[in-house]
Amino acid sequence: MPGRNCAFCILHSAFLLNSTSIFCKIVAGQLPSCKVYEDTITLAFMDIGPIVPGHTLVIPKIHVDPLTAAPPEVLQKLILVVQSIARAQFKAFQADGVNVIQSNGRAAGQVVPHLHFHVIPRFAADGHHWNWQPRPYAKNDEMEALAEKIKGALE
Ligand code: AMP
Repeated sequence: MPGRNCAFCILHSAFLLNSTSIFCKIVAGQLPSCKVYEDTITLAFMDIGPIVPGHTLVIPKIHVDPLTAAPPEVLQKLILVVQSIARAQFKAFQADGVNVIQSNGRAAGQVVPHLHFHVIPRFAADGHHWNWQPRPYAKNDEMEALAEKIKGALE
């Protein structure tokens, strides 16, 4: 574990932790959290507003937002921790399912501007229902045109 005077740690706190992000304050220990797991790159803690009890958040310790800005090594570690938390929720709660949710931007419902994955244990009778209303394309051409746009924008 690097010491507090380590040059990397000083740079990390000065440039990578964004003091305005509530999750950065949790990482820095300036706000309390109920931790489930941490390593040098990630932190997992209980969501204080769970949609189902056991709802956990997985975040990078550095300030990154949105998903598209995440360095590959950070994202790789995050998704493995998401998988571990999901496995633990299945095991610890005998969950019937797990939702993994990740939102980018206000239009997508994101409230806290620091990359995070929601890992939510689900139960057959947990009472939560997504307001997910499919709106099929009027014409197949429309779907295909959008697929072409996405393909054209892939890097
Ligand atoms: P999102 O809407 O995807 O940005 O989700 C943000 C989540 O952060 C919500 O589910 C909140 O309940 C949760 N949250 C906000 N502040 C805290 C906090 N201090 N500790 C734990 N969870 C938090």
